[in-house]
Amino acid sequence: MKAKATDNKEFTIALAGNPNSGKTSLFNALTGSRQHVGNWPGVTVEKKEGSLIHNGASIKIVDLPGTYSLTAFSMEEIISRNYIVDCKPEVVVDVIDASNLERNLYLALQIIELGTTKTVIALNMIDVAKYMGHKINVDLLSELLGVPVVPTIARTEKGMKELLDTALAVADGESNKKEIKISYGKEIEDEIARLEAEIERAAVKCEGFSPRWLAVKLLENDLKIRKHTGSMDNGAQLLAESDRSRAHISSLFRQDAELVIADMRYGFISGLIREVLVKPVENVRTATDRIDGILMNRILGAPLFALFMYIAFTLTFTLGDPPMQWLEAAFERLGAFVSVSMPGESLLESLIVDGVIGGVGGVVMFLPNIILLFLAISILEDTGYMARVAFIMDRAMHFMGLHGKSFIPMLVGMGCSVPAVMATRTLENWKDRIATILIVPLASCGARLPVYILLAGAFFPGKTSWGLSSAGIVVFAMYLIGILLAAVMARLFRSTILRGPDAPFVMELPPYRLPTAKSIVIHIWERAWMYVKKAGTIILALTAIIWFSMTFPTSYPGMKNDEARLSAAVEAAAEKWAEIESVGVSETGSDDYDAVYSQAREIEGTIAAAKLENSFAGKFGKFFEPVFRPIGFDWKISIALISGLAAKEVVVSTLGTIYSIVDADEGGETSLRQAMINDQQMNPLKAVVLMLFVLISVPCVATLAIIKKETNSWKWPIFSAAYHMALAWGICFLVYRIGMALGIGVG
Ligand code: GDP
Ligand code: MG
Repeated sequence: MKAKATDNKEFTIALAGNPNSGKTSLFNALTGSRQHVGNWPGVTVEKKEGSLIHNGASIKIVDLPGTYSLTAFSMEEIISRNYIVDCKPEVVVDVIDASNLERNLYLALQIIELGTTKTVIALNMIDVAKYMGHKINVDLLSELLGVPVVPTIARTEKGMKELLDTALAVADGESNKKEIKISYGKEIEDEIARLEAEIERAAVKCEGFSPRWLAVKLLENDLKIRKHTGSMDNGAQLLAESDRSRAHISSLFRQDAELVIADMRYGFISGLIREVLVKPVENVRTATDRIDGILMNRILGAPLFALFMYIAFTLTFTLGDPPMQWLEAAFERLGAFVSVSMPGESLLESLIVDGVIGGVGGVVMFLPNIILLFLAISILEDTGYMARVAFIMDRAMHFMGLHGKSFIPMLVGMGCSVPAVMATRTLENWKDRIATILIVPLASCGARLPVYILLAGAFFPGKTSWGLSSAGIVVFAMYLIGILLAAVMARLFRSTILRGPDAPFVMELPPYRLPTAKSIVIHIWERAWMYVKKAGTIILALTAIIWFSMTFPTSYPGMKNDEARLSAAVEAAAEKWAEIESVGVSETGSDDYDAVYSQAREIEGTIAAAKLENSFAGKFGKFFEPVFRPIGFDWKISIALISGLAAKEVVVSTLGTIYSIVDADEGGETSLRQAMINDQQMNPLKAVVLMLFVLISVPCVATLAIIKKETNSWKWPIFSAAYHMALAWGICFLVYRIGMALGIGVG
């Protein structure tokens, strides 16, 4: 038999717990008469110790002072924490009043977070809890907290043997429970990560505490830890850093950092309680409870969420429309101005007007919509509603084989897939995580929005019979389709390549709070700036490359011929004009002129289109046309779709460049939207198929790169690209063919 830690030496169990949780009763039940009472060294706080023998192990039991927390605010708290940390008892037994779980779990959480000692929870007073009609899922509680939980009734000495058995087993390392990690929300986690890095850099050490714990304590302004840190070599600078973080947090939340952190812990606990506890009736209802009563209602919850999302997208669309039109007009005027002020027709002019202004301008003009989208997202996030959505979606998510927590990355994905893939880190189960990573790109990210707005705006004008904006409905439908597809795919993955049980875990439910203007402004600013920066760098570079490949080679076989026809037509038009002027302008005369003139324009258009068709990009598009032809797209759209793999916005900028080149009008003052409407090839059905393709097809390069990084293998990004491509093509094919067969939207 292998030797056990508990075999010979005396073995210590420290009892911790809230006042009135039944600690003394438990202590008495365990130790019987073998106990003595004194004072803690140096202070007049009662110290009780007792001993017993269980299964041959001699055990010392120390009754710690009852506390609600392990901060350093009171003598009792400091004694308890110091004892746990310095005297290193083999096991801490946290006594919890089962009829008052929520409050008691706060201390439990802190002991577990402390992470220095093995912990067992005595779920005491379960008789009272039962009497009150509370149903507690003990196994789930244990699983979610990552420590063993033993139900006890100290007054009648029930569960004592099980408690001691468990404590011995834990001390012998027979329990290999996972560690829990509370997520404190993005803002605070950012500061924690910053401080952790500082702590590691400054090599500040403290009694086996993890850098993360120290960072949290510094943010909480824990006096003991501050003092300790201050006494270290690089401590002063670390303290200054932590003060900066605290100031940053309290200015964002308009509350002291320690209170915000406590709120987050309570958020974790409310999430946990929701999973493990069923109470007969709510007796005390806080404001948060009352709001939750409506927003998280079993029946109303999901429709309300859909309504909020609908409002968000309609507002993004309708409020964003006027400023978008201004920007659009401004870029058009800029293009016209540049082409008028540059002499003759040059390649440089084409690069600036067709490439840069047509392409980048086409992306930048959607900035107002992007700002509104992020305004909506950050309001939903900062109020605490987004966390609820995970709950509302939990049942649906379980149906698709995932946990409600997987919904959060989906929501983040509506901003951008890259942080969304990173947000899957909160999922501890690997298969859950991969499944979520695979479906996250189906959430329509901000970069898809310009594509939707362009196409929906062009092909679905006006209002429906109920006075709703048709384009708004189409855009909203795209978001919904993405989510539905995600659900279906997740279910598929979880029952095939990623089969496995779903691991339960806690979702934080922070209290509702009014978002501060500052944190919203910061969110929006970050996103808007990223969008503009992307337009000014990556998109600009891609646009230049795409312009180049669309412009060169500048001639094609038979161009001489067409050009001769063009100059003949132009000459004819000029002659006609001279003729009209000499006779005086008349109705028939100007009709004749119009006919000749439009013939010249037509030839001009033919030349531009033929040039594009024979350019590098044109050949490229032609090469891939067979792939896209079955779903209704010619080589022009193929170029846009392929270039969209680099970044989804590029679909719009490429279309901008294509139409700007093909539309051989003076200075490109036709908007892209108008040019697409004018294109005989396009119709509402194709617009929808195009949107679907942009929604579903291969995630952008940045997303694939982050998938590679997060999964640390090439397998998943490759799989992700392949399955998205196949799915997109398949769905587009079905929609296009069915639409054609039924004659919907082809006129
Ligand atoms: P302490 O403040 O944590 O030391 O709690 P005590 O041991 O003094 O207990 C507080 C009260 O709860 C006493 O009246 C106990 O008799 C009672 N009590 C303790 N454990 C239980 C239990 O498991 N069930 C019930 N019904 N009462 C208990
Ligand atoms: Mg007591």
